[in-house]
Amino acid sequence: MFNQIRKIIEKIKGDNIFCSLEDEAFILKYLKEEENISPFTFKETDEKGKELLEFLMEFTKKSITIYNEHLPKDKRKKNIFLFVDDKTINAFATSINNIDVVGINIGVLTILYDFYNKVVDDKFFTEIAGNGEERKNLIFRLQVMSFHYIICHEIGHLYNGHIDFGRLNLMKEIMNLNQSDRFEIIFNKTIELDADAFAMNRMLEFNENLIAVKDKSSVDNEIKYSYKIFLFSMYSFYLFLGETFRTNEIQEDTYFSPAVRQLLNLTIAEEFVARVRPEFSNEVKEITNYLMMEADFTLHKYCSKSIDESSKQIYLIGKLRYFESPELKNEMIIVKKEWNAIRDELQKNARFQLSKKYNI
Ligand SMILES: [Zn+2]
Repeated sequence: MFNQIRKIIEKIKGDNIFCSLEDEAFILKYLKEEENISPFTFKETDEKGKELLEFLMEFTKKSITIYNEHLPKDKRKKNIFLFVDDKTINAFATSINNIDVVGINIGVLTILYDFYNKVVDDKFFTEIAGNGEERKNLIFRLQVMSFHYIICHEIGHLYNGHIDFGRLNLMKEIMNLNQSDRFEIIFNKTIELDADAFAMNRMLEFNENLIAVKDKSSVDNEIKYSYKIFLFSMYSFYLFLGETFRTNEIQEDTYFSPAVRQLLNLTIAEEFVARVRPEFSNEVKEITNYLMMEADFTLHKYCSKSIDESSKQIYLIGKLRYFESPELKNEMIIVKKEWNAIRDELQKNARFQLSKKYNI
């Protein structure tokens, strides 16, 4: 897998858009003083861990280079990417001195590895069929995909103008105290879904690139396998995030539930495949259905909670009922209306073309 991604990385040429060492020193000092954020030092990391982190760093920098290749010069901004010395599951994007800053906590990588290492088996991934080497590759691929999805989500906040727009409106809010918390919650939910959609689309393109560099002889299976890996990595990341929110009692109503985000992201994947690979539409639907029915129980397995068939059925019925509930439908309409209301203003701050307004 390293080699596969390297092949893509090597093909990438583009202007260096990473900030100078001087800017970097300023930003790190600022993060430390204002936010108590420190970069991860590799002191206690073993050779294999270092190799992975360096690879991910390189991979992220190259991906950001590609996104900038698609932008007019005046929309390109300097960038810094860092691993944060924090064991919790979190990532952030911000802008300091007009430089994009994206950080991901080192805890995300540790916990993802632990999770995949414990739950990946050949019952769910029949493709590995008891092959230990293949299983290791699979765990690595899942880790890389989840990691990249999270980074793309954060980049989406910057490239789709959320950070600049949010700041402008925060200023307005300070001047106009009538703005309610409710407004902030809806705005947050709306931009979160937009960042998810940005991440899904970048990841789907990346997944197609991976398929393209693969050996032609195994391409049929590789397509299915690649989609399964990517969609499972996105899906299980949200299971995890939900669990973290629950155990840390983070106010869940500022976000849509992980189940809703999983469902919306799977819908984006189905639409993407219907557009670029229509002959594969049914197969990707099978994968998404399978995830909706089975992947949640990998978290049960990870938390060592056993679950019998009848509680499994009750769980699934509850989930489907929630998707069909008037409350959720109503909430989606509110968020779509919010998107329609902010979309044009947001576009002025965005670097890419944003999604169209909804017909509601
Ligand atoms: Zn976000």
